[in-house]
Amino acid sequence: EAKAKNGGGFKLYDSSMNAKVMRKVELEREAREALREHHFSLALQPQIDIETHRLRGFEALIRWSHPIKGAISPGEFIPMLESTPFMLELDYWVLNRSLRILSELRMAGYPDLKIAINMSAAQFTDNSLPEYLKEQLDTFEIPPDMVELELTETALVSDMDLAVNVCQSLQEMGCLVAMDDFGTGYSSLSYLKELPVNVVKIDQGFIRGMLDNPEDANIVESTIALVRSLGRTVIAEGVETHEQFSMLGQFQCHQAQGYLISRPIPENQLWERLNEAVSDGVWIGALDSQTL
Ligand code: C2E
Ligand code: MG
Ligand code: MG
Ligand code: MG
Repeated sequence: EAKAKNGGGFKLYDSSMNAKVMRKVELEREAREALREHHFSLALQPQIDIETHRLRGFEALIRWSHPIKGAISPGEFIPMLESTPFMLELDYWVLNRSLRILSELRMAGYPDLKIAINMSAAQFTDNSLPEYLKEQLDTFEIPPDMVELELTETALVSDMDLAVNVCQSLQEMGCLVAMDDFGTGYSSLSYLKELPVNVVKIDQGFIRGMLDNPEDANIVESTIALVRSLGRTVIAEGVETHEQFSMLGQFQCHQAQGYLISRPIPENQLWERLNEAVSDGVWIGALDSQTL
């Protein structure tokens, strides 16, 4: 009887695990189909210089438009797909499409914009990444320093030596490496010194809190000072208000990205948006909360 009881308990646990695995398998299947059916696209979010309002470039963000479920947020599907072999395939699709969009921008008269691309840990450590990147930069005639690869702290922390090596090989090619969501992982400030990243992106959680919470403001201010003292570039993410923008200016943050400047722009609206919001390389789109 005891055995049956245990067996029953185990079975319950087992079936809930199965349900989770099955959801993941189903999601992976749907995602593969979505890629074949062209249901993935990119949205591009502007990054501007805080002092001059010059448009620096864009971060490429994936979008999934499901024929029945509607828009599925990357916050929902990326974490799940990350533990499937399909993530790597999707990452390479994003990389290819981002570079294609940048090359079109360059031909349309925007030759000095950068593109920032998110990478999963799998792509970051994939042996064929440097070779593929080189080949793609060649094909699209893109100077390597126009391409920034974003990594999260959690992807980096798991194997520091490997992370340093990959960062170095990407930089030897001339590409830039950015640390995304800085401050949310386990890394300390001193860890920044070890890791050769060109750019640090302060997580939007700190930006959200900085006006009301002096501790968040202190963290933002000292991160900016440290990153600057190391000769790297610092970008604030999730900037939504004028007050945040001007405080970041006082702290001498280099660049900003967030709804205040623009929401991510669907790739098929990019030209139109750029034509109305950029003049002489400067972002003149309304820096106001109407963009919310
Ligand atoms: P992330 O790389 O940190 O991207 C920033 C996220 O913040 C984006 O969410 C963006 O839409 C959102 N955001 C930008 N400005 C504001 C703002 O002012 N306020 C608020 N509340 N949010 C803002 P999104 O597009 O939903 O992406 C979520 C995460 O999914 C990304 O975080 C990134 O980690 C991941 N992701 C997105 N696209 C890709 C991709 O192509 N490949 C990979 N591997 N991951 C991706
Ligand atoms: Mg990012
Ligand atoms: Mg981020
Ligand atoms: Mg994030």
